[in-house]
Amino acid sequence: MRPRRTFRASYFPYQMTLTDALARPLRDLRISVTDRCNFRCVYCMPKEVFGKGYQFLPKEQLLTFEELGRLARVFAGLGVQKIRLTGGEPLMRRGLDVLVRDLAAIQGLDLTLTTNGSLLADQAAALAAAGLRRVTVSLDSLDDAVFKCMNDVEFPVARVLAGIEAAAAAGLAPVKVNMVVRRGLNEQSILPMARYFREQGHTLRFIEYMDVGTSNGWRLADVVPAREIVRMIDAELPLEPVDAAYRGEVAERWRYRDGSGEIGVIASVTQPFCADCTRARLTADGGLYTCLFATTGRDLRGLLRADATDDEIRDAISTTWTERTDRYSEQRSSETAGLHKIEMSFIGG
Ligand code: SAM
Ligand code: SF4
Ligand code: SF4
Repeated sequence: MRPRRTFRASYFPYQMTLTDALARPLRDLRISVTDRCNFRCVYCMPKEVFGKGYQFLPKEQLLTFEELGRLARVFAGLGVQKIRLTGGEPLMRRGLDVLVRDLAAIQGLDLTLTTNGSLLADQAAALAAAGLRRVTVSLDSLDDAVFKCMNDVEFPVARVLAGIEAAAAAGLAPVKVNMVVRRGLNEQSILPMARYFREQGHTLRFIEYMDVGTSNGWRLADVVPAREIVRMIDAELPLEPVDAAYRGEVAERWRYRDGSGEIGVIASVTQPFCADCTRARLTADGGLYTCLFATTGRDLRGLLRADATDDEIRDAISTTWTERTDRYSEQRSSETAGLHKIEMSFIGG
């Protein structure tokens, strides 16, 4: 059983298309608005590395909302159709709704956000009022003991569920829920999560544990392949594949045969999708990265603060994208595993 990777026609034909060295268009931008987080997920910011003495970026090194708004408009002019705000934990950036309001005003832009949900119950209404339309919430288990083991700060499941409910009530729907699956930690949570979110009408997406950064001690043996996850769910709740909606959609989609909704699997380790990767990433301090697994980025903050014109910034982005040859997941090997890659909490996923 495999979903067909066919794409619906008319892929924003009116917009500018900037393609990289492997003919992939620039369509998506992920903006990390902070490198800080109130969780210490063991697969992302393990406490041994991100402990009390860890030096996060000082405020003056973060891009300001004004700088982010300016860059977002340049990216939109280059063909970017979707922006996802992320982090670290994006809701820890003070006044995020002000940035959302500015970005939501960019015509034709699909604006969304990924959060750990811990602060969502308080902020969902303000974000929706500012123009946010959708949200993705990360949650790795419904079992408190398992979840606390994964977030490593004793954060309870109930408060994330309250955040999801507040988001849906504020109209940030459909809410997507992301679950990273790590062998030996939360496989037993796969079915309870599938049952619960099917019932709630939210789309659950399972993410294979990835070797992002260098601090999480990743091992291939800890990855639960997406196929195994689909097989496990299908045995109890029969599934059928759904066509990809657009080029660059990273999740393989599956729907419940009884019509009760769908799930997604993001199989970046076992079934890499580099050939359709249309995403650029901006770190909180203004580094432009063209791959989640990159070791270096292009400094856009330096340009912004040296009074570069929009044309100069556009040229820098265009050159970076057109020269792009990244396909890390397709080339993953014992050698690439040892590279000094940027951390997930810095690049934003
Ligand atoms: N803090 C927010 C959150 O957790 O949703 C946004 C940033 S987080 C880096 C973005 C996404 O990356 C989350 O869904 C998280 O679960 C996922 N993630 C982090 N580390 C990962 C890893 N090693 N492998 C796979 N996904 C990972
Ligand atoms: Fe924080 Fe998100 Fe990383 Fe967890 S996955 S440590 S919530 S940035
Ligand atoms: Fe895109 Fe890099 Fe991931 Fe491949 S490995 S899909 S190029 S981000």
